[in-house]
Order: sequence, then C-alpha cells, then structure tokens
Amino acid sequence: MLQIFSSITLPLEAPEQEAIEQVRKQLQLPPGTPASIYRRSIDARKTPRFVYSIVFDTELQRDELRPFPHYEFPPPVQTERQPLIAGFGPAGLFCAWLLARCGMKPIVLERGDPVETRTNAVQKFWNDGFLDPESNVQFGEGGAGTFSDGKLTTRIHDPRCRKILETFVEFGAPREILFLAKPHIGTDRLRKVIRNLREDILFHGGKIRFRTCLTGLNIQNGKLQAVFLNGLRTPADLLVLATGNGAVDTYQMLLGQPLQIETKPFSVGFRIEHRQEQIDRAIYGASAGHPALPPAEYNFSHVTDKNQGKAVYSFCMCPGGQVVNASSLPGRLITNGMSCFARDGQNANAALLASVYPSSPQEGLALQEAIERNAYQAGGRFFAPVSTARAFRNGETPTRLGGIRPTFLPGTTPYEIGALFPTRITARLQEGLALFEHRICAEPDAVLTGPETRTSAPLRIRRHPESLCAEGADGLYPCGEGAGYAGGIMSSAADGLRIAETILRKERERQ
Ligand SMILES: Cc1cc2nc3c(=O)[nH]c(=O)nc-3n(C[C@H](O)[C@H](O)[C@H](O)COP(=O)(O)OP(=O)(O)OC[C@H]3O[C@@H](n4cnc5c(N)ncnc54)[C@H](O)[C@@H]3O)c2cc1C
Repeated sequence: MLQIFSSITLPLEAPEQEAIEQVRKQLQLPPGTPASIYRRSIDARKTPRFVYSIVFDTELQRDELRPFPHYEFPPPVQTERQPLIAGFGPAGLFCAWLLARCGMKPIVLERGDPVETRTNAVQKFWNDGFLDPESNVQFGEGGAGTFSDGKLTTRIHDPRCRKILETFVEFGAPREILFLAKPHIGTDRLRKVIRNLREDILFHGGKIRFRTCLTGLNIQNGKLQAVFLNGLRTPADLLVLATGNGAVDTYQMLLGQPLQIETKPFSVGFRIEHRQEQIDRAIYGASAGHPALPPAEYNFSHVTDKNQGKAVYSFCMCPGGQVVNASSLPGRLITNGMSCFARDGQNANAALLASVYPSSPQEGLALQEAIERNAYQAGGRFFAPVSTARAFRNGETPTRLGGIRPTFLPGTTPYEIGALFPTRITARLQEGLALFEHRICAEPDAVLTGPETRTSAPLRIRRHPESLCAEGADGLYPCGEGAGYAGGIMSSAADGLRIAETILRKERERQ
C-alpha cells in the first residue's frame, strides 16, 4: 500500500536520497522498501531549506502516515450518445479526454482556433495590437491558461489533482511537476501538452469543432432541448458548459436563460513588476543565487476590512516572467502574467488585487467593463497604462520609469493608474501596496501595469448537488471557472473530470 510520510527538512546541499534514508530509519522499514520523493517544497524562513514528503510501499499502520491519493478510472461505457462540450480550456479538455477514454465520443465546440494557429494570432496581437476577438489569449484551444505560467498549484484537496498531474506528464509535461510543491509547466511546454491531449481525444473518437461558438440555449420544461451554434439551432439534450470567465457575450446570453445564477465576489487590481533578483534577495536573503534554489516567489495578503472580509492580496505570481496583454474584446484592455518553463526572464510579476463584492452579476460585469474600457482609452491601440509604486502611492502620473522595464506588449503609456478604478478600490490597493512594500519588497520604481480584472468568475450557475445539472435545466452541466466552480487550471480540470464521471455514471445507469 502506498503511504506518505511528511516533513523531513534538509539543507539545500543534502542529496534527496538522504530524506528517504531518514524516514526509513525513523519508521524502521526494511532495507529495499520501495520509496520515492512525493513532494519537495522550500522553507524560505531564515536559511532556506528543502522540506520533503516521501512515499513508501508499506503495510505499516502509523499515525504519521497518510494514504497516497489514488484515482479510480471510471468503467467504460458503450454508447452512440455523443455529449457536446462548449469550451476547450482545462475544464472542457479534461472532461472531453475522460469521456473519450471511457467510450463516449464527445463533440467539443470551441469558438477559437487550434493552439498552433492561436499562438501565431496571439504573437501578432502582442507585436502590432491587431486583435482577433474569437481567437486570442482568452479564447482558443487550451483556454485562458495557455499563455500563462502554467502554475499547477491549487487549494483543493482532491485525488483528481494527482491524476491531472500524471496526465500532463503522460502527454509531455516535465516529470518534476509530480513532486514539486509549487509545480508549473510554463507556457512553452503547456502548448505541446495541449496539442498531444487533443490528438488523444481524436484518437479515441472525439471530435473538435473550432470556430464554433455557443450563441444560445433552448431550455423548456426544465430540460435542455437545443443549442445554437454560430446562430444555428441544433437539437441537443446533453451539453457541458465550460466556456470560462472571459466570454462576456456568453455570460449575457446565460443571464437571459431560465437558470439560477448567483453573484460571486471577484477581484481587480494591477500587475506589479520587480527585477527577479530583487525578489530573490527579499525572499532568500543571503542564500539568493544558490544554484539549488529556483527563482523566488512570494505570497502577500492583508485584510483591509475585517467586518466585510475585504482583502488585498498578491495572486498568480510569475517568477522570471512577463506581463501579458490578455485582452479579448475590442476597446477593452486586460492584463495577466505568464512565464516559460525556465522562468528565466529578468522580471518577476504578480497581480496585486482588491476583492470586490458586487450586488448582482450584472453589476460585477459592468465594473469589469468600466475598468477595462478606462484602461483601453488611457493608451489606445492596446497600449497598457503603467505607473510606478511611488507615483501610485502619491496619486500621480509617473514622469519617468526607473530601472525596471515593463514587459507588456505591444507597449505602455505612463498613467495615473489609480484613476482606472473606483476611488474606494484605489484606496484599498494603496493601503495594500504600502504593506506589500513593508513585508515583501520596498521598491519605489516597481512597475504597475493595469488592469487585472478576470481573476475569477463574477457569478455562479447553481447546479443540483447530485446530478450536477444546472438547477432548472436537466442535461446542461455548468463546469469549470466560468460557471463558478473553479479558479485556476487544476481546479477547472478537476471539475471537468468530475462532470465527465457523472455523465458516464448516468449513461451506465440508463443502459
Ligand atoms: C494569461 C493567463 C494566465 C493564467 N495563469 C494561470 C496559472 O499560471 N495557473 C492557473 O492555475 N491559472 C492561470 N490562469 C487562470 C486559468 O487559465 C483559468 O482558471 C482556467 O483556464 C479556467 O479553465 P476553464 O476551462 O474553466 O475556462 P477557460 O480556460 O477560460 O476556457 C474556456 C474556453 O471556452 C471557449 N469559449 C468561450 N465562450 C465560448 C462559447 N460561447 N462557445 C464556444 N467556446 C467558448 C474559450 O475560447 C476557451 O477556450 C491564467 C489565466 C490567464 C488569462
């Protein structure tokens, strides 16, 4: 039986084998008991050290041991029924992959292009500001995280997460994601993994229709009856809705349907950039530059209003990365972050965000729109507004940028970045930045590029706790981040697997 033993702390120089030997001794396991590293994290307090968890194949019963997360593949089904899946991000991708592997041949409907064509369109957009509203950083095969850091961290404790990491490795991700506590693939490797997963879905009988947008639903008598694809009606009784949180037109269409849709808080703010070496020094101290240490990461959070639980926090840090132009709509500008597997860029960036609690999904969407339009108008041509930490704190437009060069493409415009947001949000971001400088890194020339507005969905489509269908629409399965059930690559992929398992189970019960 595979079991895990946690928390062996060793100096950076110690070989990994030493961690295994220490646990062998502590548990008095016979020599030769199969063992390997399950997880390695960094304890950066004082002198940085590695913290190991080890997995053993042993029948030993001890309190210190916990079981290895095991994922049971659902039994296959034989059926002619073909589920539709709208959206080919991590949620749709993993849903389609499991269905295809288990005998149901899904048809994926994706408004954007295959990842190869999409990559060219995105590169062109970053070079000259020419936006394709259907295939861009948010839309297209692989979904919103394709041009990302490919961070695979998550706060959910779900055995599916291990299966997702193993699947990424099976299709070309580096093996180290299986044991690093903060695994990441990098955008360069992730694109290849997505292509390989697509080929596996096709091999197992799935179909993918690119440039096919879900434009409407027909729900009658509590059941899905038909879908509209690029405006044309097609009868359908099974649709996985995995359209992500970037598709404003899809949200507007859903808000007009007989569905139960709740408001969800989300966050807005900007990206903050430092030189990576500054962050390495701030986090690792005198150990910065040690060859065993990866580019440093940080986590910052501060509650600005205890009564309402409002917070300012850092999010989606991309060591050695770049701030990306993640816009998907004409006249609206959005930023995000990405890095390659090597994380060897000069700058570190992360989002610095303030949480917001709109009173309705429409109010949340309107706030996002107002901020994104302000940002577009600040620079035009998809040039992002930038400031410095010093200018933002003083409520000014920066007169010059210091030694840190913004990485955003196609270009930037100096701007009073606080003016992008309602004043109450700007005030909280200023309070948060002052504390960030105190706790993480005091750098008045840190570059702020904004806005970041799509951190999570502003709504949740209620689904039945057992059937997982939308309340009021049998056969419609809201899935992933856009439906409000995930936040990030891992949790979206896990939700995709969960929905596929449910569809497979129901299909077996029907037979
Ligand atoms: C630049 C960037 C960097 C990120 N970095 C990370 C990271 O490092 N780690 C992390 O965990 N998360 C990251 N995220 C967030 C992560 O990408 C999302 O949480 C995740 O992709 C959500 O998965 P999803 O499948 O639910 O939706 P999405 O990935 O948004 O996929 C939805 C898909 O549906 C398609 N679609 C939309 N509307 C329609 C329609 N009407 N009809 C047909 N198709 C439609 C879209 O084209 C898209 O391909 C990042 C996001 C961005 C934008």
